[in-house]
Amino acid sequence: MSSTTPNTPAALLRASPLPLLEARILLTHVLDWRPTQLITRSDEALSDEFVERYQALEARRVAGEPVAQLVGAREFFGLDFEVTPHVLIPRPETELLVETALTALENLSRPRVLDLGTGTGAIAVAIASMRPDAQVWALDRSAEALAIATRNAARLLDAKRPGGALALTQSDWYDSLDATLRFDLIVSNPPYIASGDPHLDEGDLRFEPRGALTDEADGLSAIRAIIAGAPTRLAADSVLWIEHGYDQAEAVRALLTAQGFAQVRSERDLAGIERISGGRLDT
Ligand code: GLN
Repeated sequence: MSSTTPNTPAALLRASPLPLLEARILLTHVLDWRPTQLITRSDEALSDEFVERYQALEARRVAGEPVAQLVGAREFFGLDFEVTPHVLIPRPETELLVETALTALENLSRPRVLDLGTGTGAIAVAIASMRPDAQVWALDRSAEALAIATRNAARLLDAKRPGGALALTQSDWYDSLDATLRFDLIVSNPPYIASGDPHLDEGDLRFEPRGALTDEADGLSAIRAIIAGAPTRLAADSVLWIEHGYDQAEAVRALLTAQGFAQVRSERDLAGIERISGGRLDT
């Protein structure tokens, strides 16, 4: 038994109050190691500086800050996105939106895609990386978010992709978008949590931008604006898919149907929740 401060990876992980996976992510980040090095070098004495830097991050995590913000990154669709407190942290369930969007694009060449409220750029960049021929526009009303999305796109996309660079524009939904543009696909993961929802005061959400989470209303106002504005932005025989809350699928399908969309349906995420809804419009 030793009463000294833990100073090896093994001892730091043993002493950590965090779930092991989170402690490992913070430690590999501080050390700039690969995950396997935590095993092969587990008994190596670390310098005081590394120990202190790790313990500082550990304390911030214990106080609630999201792991993705502490390490400045989160993996989404196999890509490593920069994350800051100015953007929503990409969620695994949003990969369903990307997969469904990619399926909708299967028979189109050089499709035009619009991502509304892009945040980190996760959805737009993932689609653009899987479909190098797609021309992708990505909007956000937040200048900070656009700066992060711009960096993510520059780092993660091939500069020579046939579809060109992401067209990133500061815009409140469609407001500042060139009105002559028509898209084959519109996608969005908008703020859909109702203003009084207690989840806003729990977990990671406390540290994410409120404007990316809630519409400060009933949770459907951003979705209404996106659906209402879609017909004049969509090309002939085109598609819209939106992510929404666990209990909003029926309401979103009704909005799509009322707006003239056909083949309206929802898809379930890995938890079995109807997480996205969409439809086809022949304008
Ligand atoms: N999926 C997020 C959550 O419930 C909400 C993100 C959003 O509003 N688009 O944690």
